[in-house]
Amino acid sequence: MKPQLNPRYQSYVLSCMDDIPQLGRLSEARRLAMRALAHVLPFRTNSYVIDELIDWNNIPDDPIFRLTFPQPEMLEPADLARVSSLVRAGAAAQHIRAIADRIRLTLNPHPAGQLEHNVPRLDGTPLPGVQHKYKETVLFFPRRGQTCHAYCTYCFRWAQFVGMEGLKFAQRETETFHKYLRRHTEVTDVLFTGGDPLVMRAWHLRAYIEPLLGPKYEHIRHIRIGSKALAFWPYKFVTDPDADTLLRLFECVVASGRHLALMAHFTHPRELDTPIVRRAIERIRSTGAVIRTQAPLVRHINDSANTWAEMWRKQVQLGLVPYYMFVERDTGPKNYFEVPLADAHDIFRRAFRQVSGLARTVRGPSMSATPGKVVVLGTQEVKGEKVFILSFLRGRHREWVGRPFFARFDPHATWLDQLKPAFGERQFFFEEHADQEPPHVAACE
Ligand SMILES: *Cc1c(COP(=O)(O)O)cnc(C)c1O
Ligand code: SF4
Repeated sequence: MKPQLNPRYQSYVLSCMDDIPQLGRLSEARRLAMRALAHVLPFRTNSYVIDELIDWNNIPDDPIFRLTFPQPEMLEPADLARVSSLVRAGAAAQHIRAIADRIRLTLNPHPAGQLEHNVPRLDGTPLPGVQHKYKETVLFFPRRGQTCHAYCTYCFRWAQFVGMEGLKFAQRETETFHKYLRRHTEVTDVLFTGGDPLVMRAWHLRAYIEPLLGPKYEHIRHIRIGSKALAFWPYKFVTDPDADTLLRLFECVVASGRHLALMAHFTHPRELDTPIVRRAIERIRSTGAVIRTQAPLVRHINDSANTWAEMWRKQVQLGLVPYYMFVERDTGPKNYFEVPLADAHDIFRRAFRQVSGLARTVRGPSMSATPGKVVVLGTQEVKGEKVFILSFLRGRHREWVGRPFFARFDPHATWLDQLKPAFGERQFFFEEHADQEPPHVAACE
């Protein structure tokens, strides 16, 4: 298959779901459920995902199908039935919306206040759209990058996409962001995240990035862009009208002596197989940018060691650098995607064992939790007690990094806050200094 020359980005949302011809393969009941689901959970996919990534001979089990089409198990049966019957009866939009809003609020859209926390201040005024949790790294959520080329069903940022009042990350101008960075010379890393900053036109992205290459920003050494565009819309780097401008921007960052990392979100090895994604990778690499890869481990989509090993192998083959395997956050749809930490570690280890040392740059499974990024190093039996061995990859306090600690083994635990200290201790060492500052976020970064 040759890459299409200049395909138009065709996105599909709820209102045009029925225009997706391939959905005709599903039963009428399943299609109704799908529409009902899309009233509650954000739904967006596109022509590339539909025509080139999903294996329609394998639905509904196909992992890429599950990646962008909401699944019935994501809602309580009673909730799904309720919305389905409204949709079937052709109820008024605002009536369905009211019910959908109520259901959504039960789905824990933003655990532990990720909207408000780690937001820095400039002259006393909070800078929404900026997060500064670790001294040398600033995260920026550009206003125009708060959507994606398609939506992952497992995304914990889904509240951002459904337009519920008060749930969106607030947004602000570039200027205050730049001013903040000029003042904070301890910052070496800037991470553009979203949504997906690469839904933006390249000239908009340039307005955020280019000033950082000039004087007063010498302290900024590493620029990262978290994006799933390579997986969801690789044409962005090849045939889109702004593709060349984007690559030129990458070249400028590299020419300024900075490290440019595209933190590419790949969920499944199939996303690496099309001719167009391969072409996009070549073009990005030719700018001198480094592509590092990361994804969460998600049940029903990529919860197998062979899938991860295959993905890492292909990535290294293509010149990409495996970076993080994340533990899926404890948010949203009914734990449908959750993988217990014990299983996550087992999958990680069995995948890690299969790959070359060149792919063992990857770390995980890692939780972006309140006190920091915590990796499960393993399980062990110590003097008759089965324990998890964990360690901080990133900690609110720098001294925490690389210090192993132990938790009582629990085969069902899925997140740090469900773990208890091992050996009869009352608390974990990092809880001694616990303050109120809650967690940060990271799917795509
Ligand atoms: C993961 C993360 C970073 C980046 O950490 P690295 O170890 O440099 O990859 C920065 N800020 C926050 C809040 C993060 O969660
Ligand atoms: S996980 Fe990333 S790419 Fe997927 S919907 Fe969420 S923000 Fe977008």
